[in-house]
Order: sequence, then structure tokens, then C-alpha cells
Amino acid sequence: MKSRILATAGALVLASATITGCAAGSGGGGDADTLTFMFRGNDAEKAAYTDAIKQFEKDNDVKVKVIMTTPDEYSTKLKAAITGKQIPDVFYIDPGSVQAYVRSGIIKDITDKVEETVDLDNVWEYGVDSYRFDGKLMGQGAIYAMPKDIGPFSFGYNKTMFEAAGIPLPDKDKPYSWDEFIDVAKKLTLDTNGDGTLDQWGTGLNVQWNLQSFVWSNGGDWLNEDRTKVTVDTPEFAEALQFFADMSNVAKVTPSTTDAQTLDTYQRWMQGQIGFFPVGPWDVPTYEKLDFEWDLIPYPVGSTGETASWIGTLGIAVSESSKNPDLATELAIYLSTDETAQQALVDAGVQIPNLKDMADEWVASSTLPPSNKQEFLDVANDYGRALPGGNTYSAEWYDELWKNIQPVLDGKQTAAEYLSDVQPRMQELLDKANAEAGIG
Ligand code: CA
Repeated sequence: MKSRILATAGALVLASATITGCAAGSGGGGDADTLTFMFRGNDAEKAAYTDAIKQFEKDNDVKVKVIMTTPDEYSTKLKAAITGKQIPDVFYIDPGSVQAYVRSGIIKDITDKVEETVDLDNVWEYGVDSYRFDGKLMGQGAIYAMPKDIGPFSFGYNKTMFEAAGIPLPDKDKPYSWDEFIDVAKKLTLDTNGDGTLDQWGTGLNVQWNLQSFVWSNGGDWLNEDRTKVTVDTPEFAEALQFFADMSNVAKVTPSTTDAQTLDTYQRWMQGQIGFFPVGPWDVPTYEKLDFEWDLIPYPVGSTGETASWIGTLGIAVSESSKNPDLATELAIYLSTDETAQQALVDAGVQIPNLKDMADEWVASSTLPPSNKQEFLDVANDYGRALPGGNTYSAEWYDELWKNIQPVLDGKQTAAEYLSDVQPRMQELLDKANAEAGIG
């Protein structure tokens, strides 16, 4: 599941060892008549971009050289380009890189052009705000990139499995409480052929991508408001992590460690063996082909009574050293907000529209699953939050939580014990990141 998410709008970029990737397109390179656009993606995305870029070339009498890498290679290849002073005019960045790139003068402040040419009321606020930086904090101030997309991380259920078990379908407008969720998950955990071993399970979630929802809806969080203190050692956080671990060890509504080794829960969900599983927009083209019916609901709610989830995003930034900064900025804006370019990406099934009016139209008119597409928009508009590691100068402090969490998931250590143990290590790494960023 990790590699599936990293391949998409979502997550922090991890470096990989190899530098390959393919260059395509035409043009001389490095001069004012040519723009270079570097991105990571798959063939469907490349195809969707190709027509849009052709149109941009025609409209602006410019050549755009396109460099596509695989998701795993991107970070390494971009770093190599920066080191070698061959920075593409326009390129993808994740929110976690913005501060460092602004401080080292790599990306350009594009606020003026964006405000002049874009109706920002019609673009997801989260998408634009993810690339704002005021010199101290992310989320406010000048705009350093436009969103390539936003990826609201939603929750799905196997409707066919519910019907077979004779369980009332979840209410899309009224999330389960944690107790109700466990109760339903138990009813879905079944030995359907009576041979003494389980054939289907209520759920099976990856802690790194699903814990956020449980913590936030229980009133916990990773950081205080000014992002100077790590707050994982609170009762609300501990209760959420304990609940997460207890799904496996106490309620036993997930595949056992042994079961998970033979086939991971992503594969089991795809085979119709899992009741509840997360769904991002990037999953939809694959899940459209599943041979069971599924739909979206809000994540179950903890003590706050409010559902919660995260939104991923990738941005499109402009190089400060571009020889053609105006056109480069126009290309970034075009790829983010031009209706034709957006439609091509939406038709390729890889993302939800960046423009709110297009998204409403998509919800109303598309007949493909999920039928409750509105849930994606609700995450985007109402209650989705940034992943905690993306808002700070470095995500090392955030990654530290996952490193030694396994004993908690295995029921060998309590969540409260682990969290009070890991908090000082996380705090030290956060202090280091904040010192590097000049925040005290
Ligand atoms: Ca069985």
C-alpha cells in the first residue's frame, strides 16, 4: 500500500537510488524559446498532458520539452538537476519542499501572476494554501506553486459484502462511532465456507496512512498550533493509537500477521475479502474494474464526533533561474487551472478537478463508481487536513513515529508507553528542523 500511495498525489517524496527516466518532446533546451517541464507520473498522465501542452505551445509560440520520471525516481532526478544547475523551468514539488526551495532561491514567487489571472475562489483553497509561505510558516503568504492536484483520502466499503452478510449499509451522512465500527467489522469477519479459517475481514488498515483520521477525530494532533511542540504524548493521541492496534489484537477484525504475509490487505480488498478500506482519487481507475460494488463514506468518529482525514497534494513550481519566467509561470497556471487541461486529467481518471465548478459538474454527471463522489469533495472542502510532516522544514520528526511502532501494533507495548517514549526523540528532530528554518 505504501508504494501505491507514493505513486500518487499524496505523500512525501522519498529519494531512490537510481537516476534514469526518459526525456521526450522537442526543442533545443536552455533558451528563451523553450520551456522544460519535469514531472512524475504514469503513461495515462503523460498522455493527458500531451494534448494540453500541444495547445499551450500553439497558443504561446513556444516549445515545451517534457521530462517524465517514475514517482520513485523523481526526487533524485530533481536534486541532480538542481545540483547540476539544469533546473527545469516548470516542475512538480511537494509541500514539504517549499520552505527549503524558497530559502535556497530555487523556486519563484508567482503570487502576482496567479492573482492577476486566476479566479482563486474557484480553486480548492487547500491546494493553493499548501504552497503559500510567508518566510516563517507554511499555509500563508506568497504563492510558490499552483496545485497539480489534491488527493482527498477517503474511506470505502464493500457494498456487496454488506448485502451478502445482511447488514444495513453505512449512512454516508452519519459516520459510525468507533464502537459501531467495530461492531459492524466483527459481523463482516467471517468464515464463509465453514472450513474453520476466516475468508473475509472487517478491515485492514496501514497505520502510516490511516492513523491520522483516528487521532484527529479523537481530538489529538501531532503538533501544537505554532508547530514548535510535538504533542503525540497526549491521552487523546494514545487512545486513538490504542484503538487502532486493538482492531487487530482485541477485536480481531483484521487479517492476522500470518494472513497479511500471504496477501496484503490491498490485494485482499481488491479480491473482495475486506469490508472497509481507504480510497484515494488515484485508486478509482483501478477500483472501477473490481467485481463487487463499493462506495465512499466518512471515516468513523472518535470522541469529537467529527470525522477527519488528510489530503495529499503535488504542486507545480517555476524555477527562479528560468530564462523565460513569464511563460513558465503561465505554463504552471495553465496546467493547474486550464479547463481543457483539467478535463484531460480528469478523463484519464487520475484526479479530481482542481476547479470547484468542474468538480461539482463531475459529481453530478459521472456515472462511474463511486456513486458518493461528493465525499471526496467534502474531504477537500470541509475537513481534510495536510499530513503533519508536510508543514515543517523537514519531516524527519514525523517519520520517527513509525520507525518503532510495530510492538504497539502487535500488542506487545501499550500506545501510551510508546508515545511517551518516542515524543522526546520526535521533539529533538522537530527542534532541529525549526532551527534550520530559523524558527525558535
Ligand atoms: Ca473459510
